[in-house]
Amino acid sequence: MSLYESLTTESAVSLVKKLGLFAESETLSCQEVGDGNLNYVFRIIGTDKSIIVKQALPYAKVVGESWPLTLERADIENRALRLQGQFAPNYAPKIYYSDKNLALTIMEDLSHLEIARTGLITGIDYPLLAQHTGEFLARTLYGTSDFALGPQEKKKLQNTFCNPELCDITEGLVFTDPFFDADTNDFEEALRPDVEKIWQDSILKLHAAQLKRLFLTSGDTLLHGDLHTGSIFASKTETKVIDPEFAFYGPFGFDIAHFTANLFINALSREESRRTPIYAHVVTVWDVFISEFTRLWNENNTEAFAPTDGYLEWLLADIFEQATGFMGLEMIRRTIGLAHVKDLDGIEDEAMRLEAKRQSLSIGAHFVKDRARYTTADQLVAAFKEGL
Ligand code: ADP
Ligand code: MG
Ligand code: MG
Ligand code: MG
Repeated sequence: MSLYESLTTESAVSLVKKLGLFAESETLSCQEVGDGNLNYVFRIIGTDKSIIVKQALPYAKVVGESWPLTLERADIENRALRLQGQFAPNYAPKIYYSDKNLALTIMEDLSHLEIARTGLITGIDYPLLAQHTGEFLARTLYGTSDFALGPQEKKKLQNTFCNPELCDITEGLVFTDPFFDADTNDFEEALRPDVEKIWQDSILKLHAAQLKRLFLTSGDTLLHGDLHTGSIFASKTETKVIDPEFAFYGPFGFDIAHFTANLFINALSREESRRTPIYAHVVTVWDVFISEFTRLWNENNTEAFAPTDGYLEWLLADIFEQATGFMGLEMIRRTIGLAHVKDLDGIEDEAMRLEAKRQSLSIGAHFVKDRARYTTADQLVAAFKEGL
């Protein structure tokens, strides 16, 4: 017998009362505020506080029709949120309760903040977004790596974050499908020549295959796994990272790559004169990531080779090169793959929208193929500004 049942606004209210999160007599309002494809997100408001109940659904409408998708991901998300909260408490939502059978997590209501993507599209700049995200990334990624945990503890933790079904989605939608004439792809017909150029670019495909292999095999650290600007709540002063259901052990550079790719995509949706704050975010997130990673490396490191001259510098350069490639792949798939972004699709003027999408594809492809050329975020910004 399955212990799972999907919640309704009524049963969500009964549940939080039964759990003692609200008094039995309190009048609560409850609304489903998620976007409905993968998970329910209920917002429950009482007299003097509010909470969020996120519940996984046993299917995803990912390729048009319902596709069964493991409820296990709710437990992965819950455990990743708790670890992120341990390593970066300022940047993770507080968790009040979780239930593996019901595939739910009850957490802090962050409705006083905005989803960063939404705000960035309307022109809000969030001065601390990159600073906070850089700290979040360095602390969570360093903290769950071999360097911080040592080989045994790391492997034991790694084993609890096997996430085959969600990794399969990333492997397909990010790394593979955009490079083939796959059913999951979704692009405007006017882009067909650009897309066919990608499908025929055997050098680009070789680089995509190399990056995919890194994603499949590296196991450096517990990634967030889906760190686009839609997974970050922000305000002028606060930043909170949500939605780590894709968490698993993968390469150090993956999350920062997705964050910076989505920043560059946002820049493409803006007029030139309004892009400067976005470029500054790309540079800041890397500066902060590198300095915070270095601080943690020097403070607590179980690796005997850690003090070896050149090792940290080599590692950071390797992470940067990988991330440049992953960033390019994310720019491509957000343009022609299954999961689009509002930054690009929302550009109303057709010629401008197509031009922004072409730029995303060509700059993305360049970052994938020529990733070894880049060693600093300033160089990435300079190449992006030059256009291709
Ligand atoms: P999904 O995995 O389905 O993408 P998310 O965790 O990204 O789910 O949540 C979807 C939406 O629900 C968010 O974009 C946000 O609007 C709302 N939401 C999620 N978590 C919270 C929270 N802690 N506080 C307020 N709103 C939230
Ligand atoms: Mg969503
Ligand atoms: Mg989400
Ligand atoms: Mg999600």
